[in-house]
Amino acid sequence: MDGNRFIDWVGGICVLNLGHRHPRLVAALEHQSQSIWHTLELPTEARIHFLRELESILPGHLRGHARIFFSITGGDAVETAVNLADHAQGKRGTVAFSGAYHGVHGGVIALTSGRRYHSTSTFTGGGTVIRVPYPDPYRPVLGADEGAAGTISYLEHLVNDPHSGVDTISSVLVEPILGEGGYVVPPDDFLPSLREFCDRHGILLIADEVQTGLGRTGKMWAVEHSRVTPDILCIAKTIGGGLPLAVVAYRSDLVKELPRGFHLGTFRANALALAVGAETIRVLKEEPIVEHTRTRGEHLLSRFKALEGRHAAIGDVRGKGFMVGVEFVHDRASRRAWGERAKAMRSALLARGVLMHTAGAWDQVLRFMAPLVIEDELLDRGLAAFEDALESLDPTPQRPGSTTSHIPHPAAPSTYLHPPPEHAIPTPVVPDLPGRNLEDEEES
Ligand code: PMP
Repeated sequence: MDGNRFIDWVGGICVLNLGHRHPRLVAALEHQSQSIWHTLELPTEARIHFLRELESILPGHLRGHARIFFSITGGDAVETAVNLADHAQGKRGTVAFSGAYHGVHGGVIALTSGRRYHSTSTFTGGGTVIRVPYPDPYRPVLGADEGAAGTISYLEHLVNDPHSGVDTISSVLVEPILGEGGYVVPPDDFLPSLREFCDRHGILLIADEVQTGLGRTGKMWAVEHSRVTPDILCIAKTIGGGLPLAVVAYRSDLVKELPRGFHLGTFRANALALAVGAETIRVLKEEPIVEHTRTRGEHLLSRFKALEGRHAAIGDVRGKGFMVGVEFVHDRASRRAWGERAKAMRSALLARGVLMHTAGAWDQVLRFMAPLVIEDELLDRGLAAFEDALESLDPTPQRPGSTTSHIPHPAAPSTYLHPPPEHAIPTPVVPDLPGRNLEDEEES
């Protein structure tokens, strides 16, 4: 717009897993634009093709046994999932975790007047939420640094103790990796033990894969790392390839029939979005992007960890695939979150032509969420800018022999999985944004 160019490590917050203007998505959009744009629920070819493609990638036993709701945004999909769970269970009570971000909807149903609409929504009175600490190994509550046992025994207490203060639990809503909450990777046993807990008590498991889905973590779905199948799966962001589309996939045996008008929304299943969405799935299936995200993500993680070894302001580096969080702390002993440093890094990176975004309760985490198809050259350049930005803020980085162990910088791979593109990648242009102080900006 103003001549500036950036290396995009934000990707529209995990919307652009296939990058900007992927040629196959552009072709799919152009093709669909010559026919139907929008029909709501009429069965168009775009809808049928999309459903076939989606069906072919659903995790575990949802594949071949799922029913689908269309939505428009991630928040809308999560709300629908909770309404569905409560309707199927005939009771309310959603376990949601600390650090969770599921959207900002939920108020407007109370403003709509029809009793009919109120009767199928959990959110007329704000929902019935039971908040439980997410097992964060770096900031452990309930012993999360030693696995998920503490979290599960707390959940057992909520169910079993008649004085726990919780009357009923209908579902557990979980992000397999915390997104806005700071790219927190839970202990490996968390999702499997949550699945067992839900099965033991007849509680439904809802996975919110709005941010983690569609290859982002190096598997098509993050739940596949632990071979867990949720009863209900929420999908959005990349599923429309950049156009607004969201989906709820749920076990077909969950409910026999739903009341008329159970789920509404004028722009659901927009045909343009469905056409681009179907092509997005095809690209992810046909090209080795997801597998490369896993291996490139491991390499990237080790390179960020090498920086952690050299810079005391980095307290933790974690992630899976192309979902990597770098957490800033005042000091490693107290782990006191250092949001100002993460935001200063964000500005320093912007000045070096790299876009990164913060996450976490105190904005203390910088998160890497580049498109999965980003060229290796742009990863190298971005990492060099990252180190340069770190050094500009902390000119005396920690050296070997100090209290933290030095992790050597791993050698660059001899061959790139993604060779540099044939066209020259333009050098980022340092932006000039007078009067704008990013450090003061609120998150979206
Ligand atoms: N769930 C998760 C895990 C998300 O990361 C987000 C958005 N960042 C949402 C739900 C809400 O999605 P939307 O902004 O499309 O409503």
